Amino acid sequence: MTRREYDLVVIGGGPGGYVAAIRAAQLGMSVACIDQHARLGGTCLRVGCIPSKSLLESTERYREARHALREHGVLVGEVSFDLTAMQQRKEQIVETLAKGVAALCQQHQIAVYQGHGRLQGPGQVSVQQGDQTALLGAGRILLATGSRPATLPGVELDGDRIGTSTEALAYDQVPRRLVVIGAGYIGLELGSVWSRLGAEVIVLEALPRVLPGTDLELAKLAQRVFEKQGLQFRLETRVQSARVQDGQCVVACEGAEPIECDRVLLAVGRVANTQDLGLASVGAEVDARGELVIGEDFQTTAAQVYAIGDCVRGPKLAHKASHEAVACIETLAGHRAQVNYDTIPGVVYTHPELASVGKTEEQLKEAGVEYRKGMFPFLASGRARTLGDTEGRVKILADTITDRVLGVHILGLRAGDLIAEAAAAMEFGASAEDLAHVCHAHPTLAESLGEAAAAVHQRAIHVAPPQRARAGKS
Ligand code: FAD
Ligand code: NAD
Repeated sequence: MTRREYDLVVIGGGPGGYVAAIRAAQLGMSVACIDQHARLGGTCLRVGCIPSKSLLESTERYREARHALREHGVLVGEVSFDLTAMQQRKEQIVETLAKGVAALCQQHQIAVYQGHGRLQGPGQVSVQQGDQTALLGAGRILLATGSRPATLPGVELDGDRIGTSTEALAYDQVPRRLVVIGAGYIGLELGSVWSRLGAEVIVLEALPRVLPGTDLELAKLAQRVFEKQGLQFRLETRVQSARVQDGQCVVACEGAEPIECDRVLLAVGRVANTQDLGLASVGAEVDARGELVIGEDFQTTAAQVYAIGDCVRGPKLAHKASHEAVACIETLAGHRAQVNYDTIPGVVYTHPELASVGKTEEQLKEAGVEYRKGMFPFLASGRARTLGDTEGRVKILADTITDRVLGVHILGLRAGDLIAEAAAAMEFGASAEDLAHVCHAHPTLAESLGEAAAAVHQRAIHVAPPQRARAGKS
């Protein structure tokens, strides 16, 4: 069998893999990128970030037309929706973007192979497609194989009625009653999608809170908002089983009556794709969670084999994968590059959105760091009022001694866009005072960041004075 030779072979064509392939080509390497799917773009593009945001946007427009336009004096008569059209729009967006990724790979002269990639000893990778196998020689190998939904013992996934996010992105009918297992990113985003279209949505969560890992105060506030929107939450609820019985889905939980529903969405996290990769042939090790062990330079325990994205430690987010991709390739090319894991933002694209960067209050308390807190409610924002969307607030946490911003948490309309300023400020080591000095255009939602930063030192303008100062004046 003839062997094609490359400087770099990337296994996985998601936002980790294809970004690494492009950056490597830019730096002059000959590159091959292998993905088992015909469409490049990975989970993110095919069944993750993009399709979910498409449905979130469409269903939010529907919700707005039904419930929010009247307040603006816009009367639209009876509002209905066409689920097929929403799904087709989503498909079209995915297809267009996937073609864009394929075109970029072609323009960068990246050899794209469709098939299952597997390590075959040092410097060698096989690509298997049906009964055809190709062999690639690689100076270096990058594993960017991503992740898949975690399963739960007793939950009998059938790829239809009892499924994961992949099925929940493609329902062809609105479920009458949907049980979501897990109040994390996927549970709340896709729960919101189907709730807006009329499903009764019950979210079961093992922990006593929603969205673990996010700031508790804002997560509690978010839960109250979602409850007002119709989502039902059952916290501290452990699922024992879910199966289809007599044409109905039945979900059994510890110490509670079984719940009957017509669909179940299992969303209890994701696990790394490290199986059937031939890792033993090079000596690349995985940890107890099944994630590839890497050092600071992204090298696995095998020489010249690197790994990034969802198949290694850290948050399972597309922008984290892409950032690691660029840093890994630039390091290989001899540049100084690294990822600042303290400034990776996270956004839950519900309505309102919940966006965060840096440490939560709980993490600061646990680490014994002394901090000051500045809050600003969107109720006091002129722009939020004109938009008719005053739910939520901005919260800024700054070091008591240095005033350096340690964490920013925003619940509110377009929080996912607003958090970019906070991430940039933290990347440059800004203090709360620095952020308070930034001149924000008026009237914008971003002004609320400036006000929250000023509130760290009790000098926000559009909030009531602190009790002590008021008492002193009277
Ligand atoms: P992936 O995107 O999973 O790509 C890995 C690729 O490798 C896949 O195409 C896979 O087919 C291929 N592959 C695996 N093994 C092999 C093999 N042996 N041979 C050949 N090919 C192989 N993140 C965000 O930042 N924002 C969001 O809004 C967001 N929304 C999401 C919504 C949903 C419903 C889901 C499920 C995830 C979402 N994520 C989001 C997470 C995001 O999709 C992942 O973090 C991201 O895709 C990880 O990128 P990756 O390149 O590491 O892996
Ligand atoms: P998640 O980790 O966000 O949430 C999983 C939830 O399930 C947690 O609240 C957890 O406590 C709960 N849980 C775990 N076991 C349980 C059990 N037995 N019974 C009930 N609840 C249980 O995971 P996810 O929502 O599946 O999403 C997977 C990952 O994909 C996310 O962590 C995130 O990295 C990524 N993602 C990101 C976005 C985004 O950036 N907007 C959107 C979707 C997914």
